[in-house]
Amino acid sequence: MSTGTAVSPSMSISKEFNPFEAMAERFELASDHLKLDQGLRDVLRTPDRELTVAIPIKMDNGTMRVFTGYRVQHNFSRGPCKGGIRFAPDVNLDEVRALAAWMTWKCAVVDLPFGGGKGGVICTPSELSQGELERITRRYTTGILDILGPDRDVPAPDVNTNEQTMAWLMDTYSMHVRRTTTAVVTGKPIALGGSKGRAEATGRGVMLIAREALKKMGLKPEKTSVVVQGSGNVGGIGAMLMQRQGHKIVSLSDMFGAIYNEKGLDVPEVLAYLKANRKLTGYSKAGAISAAEQLELPCDVLVPAAVENQITSANAERIKAKLIIEGANGPTTANADKILEKKGIMVVPDILANAGGVTVSYFEWVQDRAGFFWTEEEVNTRLERIMVDAFNAVEATAAQYKTSLRIGAYIVAVGRVAEVYKLRGNYA
Ligand code: NAD
Repeated sequence: MSTGTAVSPSMSISKEFNPFEAMAERFELASDHLKLDQGLRDVLRTPDRELTVAIPIKMDNGTMRVFTGYRVQHNFSRGPCKGGIRFAPDVNLDEVRALAAWMTWKCAVVDLPFGGGKGGVICTPSELSQGELERITRRYTTGILDILGPDRDVPAPDVNTNEQTMAWLMDTYSMHVRRTTTAVVTGKPIALGGSKGRAEATGRGVMLIAREALKKMGLKPEKTSVVVQGSGNVGGIGAMLMQRQGHKIVSLSDMFGAIYNEKGLDVPEVLAYLKANRKLTGYSKAGAISAAEQLELPCDVLVPAAVENQITSANAERIKAKLIIEGANGPTTANADKILEKKGIMVVPDILANAGGVTVSYFEWVQDRAGFFWTEEEVNTRLERIMVDAFNAVEATAAQYKTSLRIGAYIVAVGRVAEVYKLRGNYA
């Protein structure tokens, strides 16, 4: 096991686009409001544990390749670490650290008994066979096994990993501990102890948060037009559920470009087209526009639900939406926050807006541990209560401290983790 010591962010990415810097800037503002002393700030900012593992794999053609994997456990004061595992060529420790810290704050905003963690493997899944992906997953799991467990660290899917990846992880862990341990991961297939409603949970959370935010703004869903960046698990499902609430979805996008119809899109039809053609390009009932144009469309609600660093100091001035619901993690840079705030655009931050996924992951973990499974209706009712309570807590805190919803959410989250840390005391 190698635990990293240096936690300063990499200097290779510009400060505005460095995810660790983005997290740290918001954390500092919240800590100022909470008047946290420097020692406590250092404790809460520093990841508790960072593990780097070598993953030697025999490839299908008989050669050996060594991949690199990471697992960062940011903070476990409030409970086991929770957070996804991503497979991507640009995974790096700095990004994994930032994402792990975001998970700590996200779990605290929705008041789940979890800390934050994140993992990643540097690889290009599209160039790997299913067999190679399975061997990478199993060897990575074995490498981080000592720090995993239902009471220690509970991974979930993230970019380029899915319920099959979680099934392999669960099986590998179970073989080592000599008993089937479904609660070691969430986002599993339902047949293996997954939860009903998990697949739609993040999109459902986005829809619920949009509903609550619009209520505060005095706007009715059926009177609003919505632009959604990304058509995947969060964007696609979020758009579909928002359309059912009466919103007019005027634009959707994927990594190849965006489509726009000011009269509104038929979201299920667009998603069926995407499934059949693997890209939105060519969909006949809407015009094609660029990714950059999409973000600047006239609309009431903008839902960035693709990747980080989309709304930046370069385009924030031209954003026309009245409300931004951050489906993705880190879609808005800290510099852009200041511009949007001046323009009076309400931004519901990622750590609140996309917390529906981790909330139903928590339900999955609870169901696995109890060995008793809930109906979809129970899952959705409990999700709604948690999301609405979290929105109200963040809104009240932002009003109390006269700050944005983002800093309000960080104040709620950092305050909850700090309180638990103080109550437990420093073990030394
Ligand atoms: P996904 O892979 O299902 O979908 C991503 C979508 O974004 C796809 O439509 C893809 O084509 C598009 N995309 C990719 N790169 C793009 C680019 N550069 N410009 C425009 N579009 C691009 O992923 P997802 O699960 O929907 O996750 C999206 C975001 O939400 C990520 O930031 C993820 O970390 C975050 N998130 C996901 C969940 C979850 O439960 N899935 C939970 C919380 C946060």
